[in-house]
Amino acid sequence: MTTELKTFIGSQFIGKPVLADIEFIPHLEKINDFADTNGLNIFVTSSTRAWNVPVGGAVFTPAKMSNHFIGHAIDMNIKIGGKLFNSDALSNFDSLPPAIQAFITAIRKHPVLRWGGDFGDPVHIDDGLNINIPDIWKQKFPIIQSELNGLTQPGIRTEISPRLLFLTTPLMQGDDVKAIQKKLIEKGFDLGTSGADGFFGQTTANAVIKFQEKEDLEPIDGIVGEKTKKALGL
Ligand SMILES: [Zn+2]
Repeated sequence: MTTELKTFIGSQFIGKPVLADIEFIPHLEKINDFADTNGLNIFVTSSTRAWNVPVGGAVFTPAKMSNHFIGHAIDMNIKIGGKLFNSDALSNFDSLPPAIQAFITAIRKHPVLRWGGDFGDPVHIDDGLNINIPDIWKQKFPIIQSELNGLTQPGIRTEISPRLLFLTTPLMQGDDVKAIQKKLIEKGFDLGTSGADGFFGQTTANAVIKFQEKEDLEPIDGIVGEKTKKALGL
């Protein structure tokens, strides 16, 4: 078993970067393939979640062993022809455009992947690891949660390890954000009137993307990890 939080960028994925366990990445690639085949985009609203922390301010009660806690699930809306299909729209399978029905059918036919619509949660896709191999779920849980706490929790400062910095809701805030903003300004990137305010907002994300393009960094994703930080001179 390998357990490690990774960022996933798919050609058909829009919205927030997907954080997932390395062993769920091949499934995300499959989901991306199904979306590509059917000409639709996946707008991810939630991926790996911290234990007991409300997502986007919404009140939710964590299912006992949710696959979100180990990076083996996503919540998504589907975008096709400029139209976004949310939970309400996705809950009525028969009324969906054929392309979305075909996408969901592909998920259902996959040997491992599950569409949440089959258990009352139509925005959810996971691999059923919590049910199929609960022992592995239990082994992964503390690893993913500690990585998540150290790397990505908005507003939570940690001295243990540098976190990934990217655009999220609520905005990430801290001296680490301010440090990259100062470097971006130094290098001539426009951060607008807010300047180096310590909040990782849209302007900062755009500047990071421009910086990554200029420096030929791969991937160009607006996420500040080790490589981008190094290139910024931090
Ligand atoms: Zn979910």
